[in-house]
Amino acid sequence: MGLVQAAADLGILEYEKGLDNMGASQPMEKDRRYDVVIIGGGPAGLTAALYAGRARVRTVLLERGAPGGQLLNTEAIEDYPGFDHITGPELAQRMADQAVKFGVDLETARVTAIRQHGDKKVVETEDGEYLADFVILTAGGEPKKLGIPGEGEFQGRGVSQCAVCDGAFFKEEVVAVIGGGDAALEEGVFLTRYAKKVYIIHRREHFRAQAILVEAAHKNPKVELITNSIVTEIKGEDGQVKEITLKDLVSGQTRPLAVTGVFVFIGFQPNVQFFDHRDHVEHDPLGFLVTDSTMQTSLPGLYAAGDVRSQLTRQITTAVGDATTAAIDAVKKLEAKKHEPTPVPVDIYGPTRPDLVGS
Ligand SMILES: Cc1cc2nc3c(=O)[nH]c(=O)nc-3n(C[C@H](O)[C@H](O)[C@H](O)COP(=O)(O)OP(=O)(O)OC[C@H]3O[C@@H](n4cnc5c(N)ncnc54)[C@H](O)[C@@H]3O)c2cc1C
Repeated sequence: MGLVQAAADLGILEYEKGLDNMGASQPMEKDRRYDVVIIGGGPAGLTAALYAGRARVRTVLLERGAPGGQLLNTEAIEDYPGFDHITGPELAQRMADQAVKFGVDLETARVTAIRQHGDKKVVETEDGEYLADFVILTAGGEPKKLGIPGEGEFQGRGVSQCAVCDGAFFKEEVVAVIGGGDAALEEGVFLTRYAKKVYIIHRREHFRAQAILVEAAHKNPKVELITNSIVTEIKGEDGQVKEITLKDLVSGQTRPLAVTGVFVFIGFQPNVQFFDHRDHVEHDPLGFLVTDSTMQTSLPGLYAAGDVRSQLTRQITTAVGDATTAAIDAVKKLEAKKHEPTPVPVDIYGPTRPDLVGS
């Protein structure tokens, strides 16, 4: 069976109506076979696209929404080298324009599954399938939300999920950190570099975080730990956070607390629910994908880059770095594949006819 037939059987070749030079309507083939399929259009995906595009390999990037990923939720970025200050949407637009300039197809599609097909990968979307030699998964992750009034309204205007990114905007201000795990305690103490006071608010009596982190928070004079309490509302004025409503779960009483920043650390999940990675691809206990130094996962041909990858930190710089490595390695492997001898099916000639291999 030829590749075209195989692709057609998989639904990879689709026929669309197009216009010929004379304006007559005729079927046009949409070829969904690619060297590289990139899943996700955040900083990692757009960087992988830039490198693959510049290397002139046939590449498509599939993004379920607008390109930019978490950049679209970020008001101001001050830690991306080369830019003193840039808004997230502007950086996203620049990255997308650069990738497109190098000939990458950017398509709007939600990926629903990835499966192996011979030595290739089939990427399933709600709108059809793509066939790829290599897949670079850059689907990022989602910080868990509190789901309380004001959280969405003040996102990026006082509400944040990233202390490293946004802490410096709160110099000499009073902020609240919500959560009881390692991230909440670690980031809460980190925020004392900037804020004059940090409340760490946890719904239970005891923190889940490691004892050493809880001790560091206790010892820090700028930190006040508030337990058995939840935040029920975030309020503001002129588009900026001014106050939260705190509910004591023991007494049932509520009270206002004046803060200008609310950092939410109640969990972060990788966007990997759409493929059955738990059985097939090595991952850490939280579901983030484990890679080698080339960003390849335990499934050959599947790379992971950016926030979806198990690693120390999650930043734009780390996402673009991962993606650079992944794309360069995929391009090298594609080159090597082209020069490989054509394998002769063992069931036809048997494994003992090297003279017939790759003439
Ligand atoms: C509020 C906030 C502020 C931040 N500020 C900074 C900062 O100032 N500096 C900094 O360095 N970092 C900052 N970060 C972190 C930074 O944004 C992330 O580390 C970075 O965006 C990760 O890039 P990524 O490409 O790996 O993932 P993402 O940016 O999450 O992009 C993943 C993309 O994949 C798409 N996707 C997911 N699933 C599918 C699917 N099934 N099919 C198709 N597409 C899919 C998503 O729609 C998304 O566009 C901030 C993060 C947040 C939340």
